[in-house]
Amino acid sequence: MTDEDLFEMCPQTAQATGYPVGSSFLVMRGSTAMRDGSPKEKRNRQERDRLIMSGVLVQDHDPDLLRFTKDHLFGSSSTAGGVIKDGNCSGPQSWKRQSDGKPLKAVLDESVIVFEKPTSDADELRNRVVRVSKALHDAETKGLKLPEPAGKVNPGRESGTTFRFVRDPNVIAWVLHTSQGSCEVCGEEAPFRKDDGAPYLEVHHVRPLGEGGPDTTDNTVACCPNCHRKLHYASDRMALRSAVIRRISRLADHPVGKVTEA
Ligand SMILES: [Zn+2]
Ligand SMILES: [Zn+2]
Repeated sequence: MTDEDLFEMCPQTAQATGYPVGSSFLVMRGSTAMRDGSPKEKRNRQERDRLIMSGVLVQDHDPDLLRFTKDHLFGSSSTAGGVIKDGNCSGPQSWKRQSDGKPLKAVLDESVIVFEKPTSDADELRNRVVRVSKALHDAETKGLKLPEPAGKVNPGRESGTTFRFVRDPNVIAWVLHTSQGSCEVCGEEAPFRKDDGAPYLEVHHVRPLGEGGPDTTDNTVACCPNCHRKLHYASDRMALRSAVIRRISRLADHPVGKVTEA
């Protein structure tokens, strides 16, 4: 926590400094609280009496004030503010950032992670995952608590909106058969067998269909799930792709082309 992230509130003659810790609020040692706040306001002194009992709050040399002898973590910024003011307090409105006077609420609103909406579009989903991942990383760097998403108990389904390529089962079957149960990329045997006893391998398009690659045997390889993901996502996927094309003689290096409708 840097100095510019400190918040203060100064009701009457009291003066307190602190900062949010997740949804809690820490008031720093040396801060002062009003001994008798505004009498018109409703006050809950239980919290404050406990702090006096435990020695966290002591009488200041100024008879109007109580002083914090150590840092104290309150359940919320409002509870903290209520003790300092000795009255009702909205912490998010009352705590102001020292550097610019901005209320805590506004500062927290700025730093809140914007969650992305669910989608049935696989490509769009990937983009959204990337954005949220970045936001979570940034939040963690700032020392913010990472909110856990609620998710959906019953995720909805959509039909008819997804664009899918029409794949040729003959090509898939031929490539799988030709691989003889071993990954054509790493050479390892298929990681497991399916119900029908057939080895489990996936079929990858060396030039993706989305980049105009053909659905033909000279553009497809049988590979294990690990290598398949590598071909799609590894930082060195372009080098891996070239190596595969060089090594497997049936493959051609198809250029990026236009995607046509089926
Ligand atoms: Zn493999
Ligand atoms: Zn693939």
